[in-house]
Amino acid sequence: MQLLMMGPPGAGKGTQAAKLVKKFSIPQISTGDMFRVAVKEGTELGKQAKACMDAGKLVPDEVTIGIVRERLAKDDCKNGFILDGFPRTVEQADALEKILDELGKKLTRVLNIHVPAEDLIERAVGRRICKKCGATYHVKFNPPKADVCDSCGGELYQRADDNEATMKNRLAVYEASTRPLVEYYKKAGVYTEIDGRQPIDKVTEDLAQVLASLKD
Ligand code: ADP
Ligand code: AMP
Repeated sequence: MQLLMMGPPGAGKGTQAAKLVKKFSIPQISTGDMFRVAVKEGTELGKQAKACMDAGKLVPDEVTIGIVRERLAKDDCKNGFILDGFPRTVEQADALEKILDELGKKLTRVLNIHVPAEDLIERAVGRRICKKCGATYHVKFNPPKADVCDSCGGELYQRADDNEATMKNRLAVYEASTRPLVEYYKKAGVYTEIDGRQPIDKVTEDLAQVLASLKD
């Protein structure tokens, strides 16, 4: 099963992808997470990505496509994967089609989590992530029981780009560069929209229903 989680920043892609990982035992491939690891490690890629991420801009297509091509060729992707946050431009979507062709695979479904712009800043600014295991919380909508991670006790942190000013740029970039992919995947006949304004568990239920109706 080759799934693609789409939607604006803060829509709930990562939250839902993490649940699908458990359900289907296939990896979540989040370009944002890959860039954050590179930033932490201080690699050349990390330095380049950090400047873009801090400004709320996209990392250049050729860089992003390169890391996804390498990642999808790994063994653990053989039985499928969940793309999260890639593609974000038409160029990336075209490149993905080529990569999948080369691997003899097709996208099973594009799942677009729809959340209106007015909710997204609050979602991002309140997001907290576990330093140890990457679990995602929200100070209001999905608070941890204490101020550490419920599942591993790790310290929680706030992403540097989860502030109001950067989010405004990220949302403008989404409108200009990523929203056109809705039409792109509608035309390809693989598009499903999910109402992401619902509580987390209800979104998960809706996703499960869509996936139950699909074949690999
Ligand atoms: P994305 O990966 O699309 O950027 P996340 O999954 O990280 O989004 O979710 C962004 C924030 O919103 C997180 O703090 C998360 O806990 C919260 N969140 C996710 N889904 C919902 C939902 N359905 N309702 C309310 N808050 C949500
Ligand atoms: P995310 O974790 O998906 O919210 O992504 C955080 C940031 O990483 C984005 O604002 C971009 O700067 C960068 N990024 C993540 N995925 C991509 C992508 N597919 N193309 C370009 N930049 C990306």
